[in-house]
Amino acid sequence: MNYKVVLLPGDGIGPEVTNAAVQVLKNVGSKFQIDFEFDEKLIGGASYEAFGNPLTDETLDACYKADVVFLGAVGGYKWESLPHELKPEAALLKLRKSLGLYANVRPAKVYKALVDGSTLKSDVLEGTDFIVLRELTGGIYFGQPRGYDESRGWNTMVYDKNEVKRIAQKAFELARLRNKQVTSVDKANVLEVSQFWRTIVHEVQKDFPDVELKDMYVDNAAMQIVRSPKQFDIILTSNLFGDILSDIAGMITGSLGMLPSASLGNKYALYEPVHGSAPDIAGQNKANPLAAIASVAMMFHYSLKIPKAAELVEEAIEKTLAQGLRTADIFSEGCKLVSTDEMTETILKNINTIFVENPVVV
Ligand code: NAD
Repeated sequence: MNYKVVLLPGDGIGPEVTNAAVQVLKNVGSKFQIDFEFDEKLIGGASYEAFGNPLTDETLDACYKADVVFLGAVGGYKWESLPHELKPEAALLKLRKSLGLYANVRPAKVYKALVDGSTLKSDVLEGTDFIVLRELTGGIYFGQPRGYDESRGWNTMVYDKNEVKRIAQKAFELARLRNKQVTSVDKANVLEVSQFWRTIVHEVQKDFPDVELKDMYVDNAAMQIVRSPKQFDIILTSNLFGDILSDIAGMITGSLGMLPSASLGNKYALYEPVHGSAPDIAGQNKANPLAAIASVAMMFHYSLKIPKAAELVEEAIEKTLAQGLRTADIFSEGCKLVSTDEMTETILKNINTIFVENPVVV
């Protein structure tokens, strides 16, 4: 199978972690008979420097033609004072909007070797593996009317049927690739828009009778994520609630350098680490590549739909951490401090070993 990937390394540590991700893609791809065709384009500050524009039509066109897009990170001190539309971060918002990426997937998976690094007790955390599926292009962040004057400020939380339907469908489809359990989070006891959300989600569920659906109020969900995170498989929620819950879920599992993400639409998909361009450590071979590598695992799972390939990457991450390798951001006493390159090399070696020990028939 031939698969076209547009690479947008971006700024700061973006190119370093993208390089790690590409090596993993090539390695695992070859084991599953996938030929990746890479097309690398500039984005963010790097694109501004070259073309005076953080996202050119050429880059966007390449993304439209790709099967999938991988992004490193954008931004840096140098471009902070540019007008809003020329800032590197504006490129990211435009890219997500142009590709119609309405579903943001943020996993909260706890690696055994890092369980003690969390602020939560290890027995609460161990075995946690869920995703927050956040609606990304609607809700209160976009609703009209909005504004403020001397005496009032106002925003509008609004969802139309199509917006709820498509994100709910995405949740049930993803659940079928996991443990077939969706928790829809809303505030239906107070908000009409949430009552509407709940009604539509239940309508959509009729097409997915094999997937279990529960409803939960958002205040309770925030509490349950820190009380008993193991209970969740997929948390489906709106833009505002998802913004907050995905950060809670991310942080209970560890460092920014460990968090992958995907943004999905009907046609396009973008995979990227959650972290930014980390200008403080850029170019020093210190960046943790695991968020980028875990984003590759997500690509195998959700776009290529080869869960065995995703598991191979996940297992290699688990094994490398169990061997005590740590980049500076996740370092603790008794572990071995390694560079970006050393971490990536060990991941590749472990992928090979795990594959030889448990060959997957494809
Ligand atoms: P950041 O995520 O870049 O860095 C926050 C802290 O975490 C820094 O100390 C950094 O060294 C550390 N860190 C982040 N990722 C790491 C990794 N993989 N390995 C080791 N350490 C890591 O956030 P920031 O400092 O607030 O922002 C820096 C720039 O990145 C800004 O221009 C911001 O706008 C941009 N940004 C971009 C994205 C994106 O591209 N998706 C996301 C967030 C921030």
